[in-house]
Amino acid sequence: MKTLRSYVQGRWVQADSDFVPLHNPCTEEPIAQASSRGVDFGAAYDHARDKGGPALREMSFAQRGELLSSMSKALYAKREELIELSRLNTGVTRKDAKFDLDGATFTLSYYGKLGASLGDRRWFAEDEGAQLGRSPRFWGRHLRLPRGGVAVHVNAFNFPAWGLAEKAACAILAGMPVISKPATSSAWVAERCAEILVEAGTLPDGAFSLICGSTGDLLRRLGEYDVFAFTGSADTALRLRGQPNLLAANTRVNIEADSLNAAVLAPGLDRDGETWNVFLRDVEREIIQKSGQKCTAVRRIFVPRDELDEVQAALCERLSGAAVGDPRDPDVTMGPLATERQLHDAVEGVKKLAGDAEIVHGSGQRVDGRGTPPGKGWFFAPTLLRSEDPSGADMVHRHEVFGPVSTLCAYSGDLGDAAEAVGWARGTLVTSLYVDHPEGLVEYLTAGGATSGRLYVASKKVAPQLPGSGTTLPAMLHGGPGRAGGGEELGGISGLLLYQQRVAVTGDRALLDRAGAA
Ligand code: NAP
Repeated sequence: MKTLRSYVQGRWVQADSDFVPLHNPCTEEPIAQASSRGVDFGAAYDHARDKGGPALREMSFAQRGELLSSMSKALYAKREELIELSRLNTGVTRKDAKFDLDGATFTLSYYGKLGASLGDRRWFAEDEGAQLGRSPRFWGRHLRLPRGGVAVHVNAFNFPAWGLAEKAACAILAGMPVISKPATSSAWVAERCAEILVEAGTLPDGAFSLICGSTGDLLRRLGEYDVFAFTGSADTALRLRGQPNLLAANTRVNIEADSLNAAVLAPGLDRDGETWNVFLRDVEREIIQKSGQKCTAVRRIFVPRDELDEVQAALCERLSGAAVGDPRDPDVTMGPLATERQLHDAVEGVKKLAGDAEIVHGSGQRVDGRGTPPGKGWFFAPTLLRSEDPSGADMVHRHEVFGPVSTLCAYSGDLGDAAEAVGWARGTLVTSLYVDHPEGLVEYLTAGGATSGRLYVASKKVAPQLPGSGTTLPAMLHGGPGRAGGGEELGGISGLLLYQQRVAVTGDRALLDRAGAA
């Protein structure tokens, strides 16, 4: 069986005990094991801070951007191998594996280009500057400088490549060394990505480390100049962000947590029009893609009450076409859930939702998958629920079922009411709004546009270009208020801010100018 290793202090460390098994979700067979036993977390942290940090801070944005471009190319060169490994480790279809891997290479390449555009500078000013005294000589400007600590990244299981890459891209471009910890269940993919990056040989010593298994006492070591960026469930986030050392040192913490995202259908859309079609296509994709194991997946579908039956019929017909099973079967369109625990949580989660809403498609139970022996594999078919009165359906707005599960929710047809209802989930990553009239968008934004971190507005003119509401683009912010974690990642140059300190530099303008700081 494969034993995963950690990469710290510029070398690979293999444990000899405390292993946690990884399984093939289609067959339930153990395929690998992970443990970080033997990693000296103090030395790993010091090495990253004292070697990787200075090396990156010495480099210009253009040089750091070159590192990211080379990381992107190295991963892309092993794309086929990584697709196969993703299928084995996480049970995803080829399409879903590409979604993760191409997301990783695209994001690295995007930030590589951003680095090139920032050029030979090692920092930048974020404003034009201001005269502070009687004469223009006394001048001030806000600089963004790399923080002097280490960026520790803890990722969720569902995007082992993209999660690693999107966080690393922003930290490295900003000039901070990274220690990345993938979720154990999908860590084989992340470990192989790390091997490829290390073998490429472009990263400075200490700039990138990987921990497979527990983080030991690493998080307790973080202090004033470090960054802790977490992606995962709200429960784990709450436990980790409250650690006394993080609070005492005001360590910068960014949380990307779970989210009850919404799709909102504006009333009266033309049934032959593109906006209606894109609504059905997006919602179907959001339920099925990666078996619904996406933080950005649509969990609630708000539809005008008098259109609910029609939407339900159209969606049920589409979902009936899903073929659940082992993705090695070419007809399969949806793989299993990633772990036994995820399957258990999905079954229990649908029971909770069913207390507040009616199941109208699927059973909310484990099913047998195509191409696998009966009773084996963590398969779960698409499940749609319906709530006529979502104002009383507390669970629908509170409980995230991390699988192919979504609930149709009736609303009055007034987009202000829909915006209010979206807000009942207390903060989401993304809301998709299907609307052809600007008045509808104004109504939505005014009544509650700020409850989601991203608003994906789908209308007929852009319909052919839309990537789907669940696609996170590096140029656009990823994160959302409240329940979604309150964090912010990506968003082009804004994505660097987490890893930078804003410093107000004031003084003689000519002197600052000569130092590149005015
Ligand atoms: P999880 O159980 O909360 O685990 C997330 C990460 O935290 C894993 O790497 C896990 O490692 C680690 N972890 C758990 N306890 C820890 C501890 N005491 N110290 C250090 N690390 C610890 O979440 P998940 O099941 O992997 O992911 C599913 C959830 O993530 C869903 O709720 C989903 O909505 C959310 N998610 C959010 C986003 C977003 O961007 N907002 C993106 C993807 C997923 P182990 O695996 O080793 O336990």
